[in-house]
Amino acid sequence: MARANVKGMSDQESAGPAPSATGGFGRAGRPVRQGALRGHNLGLALRIVAEAATPVSRARIAAITGLTRATASTLVDTLLAGRLVREVELPRTSRSGRPAVGLVLAPGGPGGLGLELNVDYVAATVVDLTGSVVFHEVVAADQRLLDPPEALSRTAALACAGLDAAAAKGVEVCGVALALPGLVEPGRGRLLLAPNLGWRDVDVAGLLRREPRLAALPVSLDNEANYAALAELASGPQEDAPDFVHLSGEVGIGAGIVLGGRLFRGSRGWGGEIGHVTVDPAGPPCSCGARGCLEQYAGQEAILRRAGLSGSAATSLGGEPTIRLLVQRAADGDADLLAALADAANALGVVVAGMVNLLDVGTVVLGGIYGPLAPWIQPAVEAELAARVLWSAWAPPRVRIATKGPESAVLGAATSVVSGVLADPATWLGRGTLRA
Ligand SMILES: [Zn+2]
Repeated sequence: MARANVKGMSDQESAGPAPSATGGFGRAGRPVRQGALRGHNLGLALRIVAEAATPVSRARIAAITGLTRATASTLVDTLLAGRLVREVELPRTSRSGRPAVGLVLAPGGPGGLGLELNVDYVAATVVDLTGSVVFHEVVAADQRLLDPPEALSRTAALACAGLDAAAAKGVEVCGVALALPGLVEPGRGRLLLAPNLGWRDVDVAGLLRREPRLAALPVSLDNEANYAALAELASGPQEDAPDFVHLSGEVGIGAGIVLGGRLFRGSRGWGGEIGHVTVDPAGPPCSCGARGCLEQYAGQEAILRRAGLSGSAATSLGGEPTIRLLVQRAADGDADLLAALADAANALGVVVAGMVNLLDVGTVVLGGIYGPLAPWIQPAVEAELAARVLWSAWAPPRVRIATKGPESAVLGAATSVVSGVLADPATWLGRGTLRA
């Protein structure tokens, strides 16, 4: 395995005596604060444990990082004390000597709280550092009937239930991430626009922090489709990992774009608004103010409307019975619904083919309502891709159903919080021993 990069520390320095209490010297001879250097190395050691398929020994961490065994062992002790890793016994390789001990991520310790506020439901999920779900709850309610303070007050109440459930399992939530069906102002905690909620310029983080238990936690926001793509990136097949587009079919439609194994969010995080790509400039009016957007053909309410069924909101989580009804009706051969699904799939396929021609992604992932509806959606999408993607004869784009179901956005939100701890454990640990 390639040697990991030990920031600011040459091989010689890493093998030598520890830097002074106030600082050390980096590769270029510049002073490097000991705290920053140690923080970097803590992150390195933790990621080695997190990315390993089997328990990792202290000696292996030393070998990969190039640190001395004593230094690596001190880092591991810090991670153990911070409840980020735990020790497990390794299988004996000989009859003599003490049993070897390996390290794995700790199931307790820090956790992430993911929230999702969508058109007709709110959801909360807590995951621990290992990614295990320790709390998940969905409350169905049409958020369009509530003003933002009321909707976020209810969301905060659900979040508090998550905090209680996590605490009961020894997990301390260290941050909150909220998935929203709209445009989020980068770094400001504000929702600029959510057409399907009818919300514009709402201080979402501020309203959420009215709940005292959330006020003390860092709160981040992002578009639901981005979080859903992150969940798929974490759990999907490895062969897709470099490049794919994850479609979140709900009342609205979002796309999470993953390029080179990383989420591509656009310059301000507003990319992927595929639901508002034009199918027909003279088409039906859209909630965004334009006409003929993809959502008006392939969004859930559009499908219901075109099938002559109730136009009430029913997203994949909040309206699960509606999805079951749709699947059942389609399976029974309801002609109006099958025609609506065919129109939806054709429009979706045309727009997605344009996206694939632009981005050269190898895989299109059907998420949200498109998962259960895949038998009626997927073939037409594949046909449009085959007909419209320039290189489809040589490398036909792959279409598959999302690994994660409708919970993907809220799960991705929760996972993004613990990913932050794995990337920078020193900040988490700095609440105590490292803030010296
Ligand atoms: Zn639109």
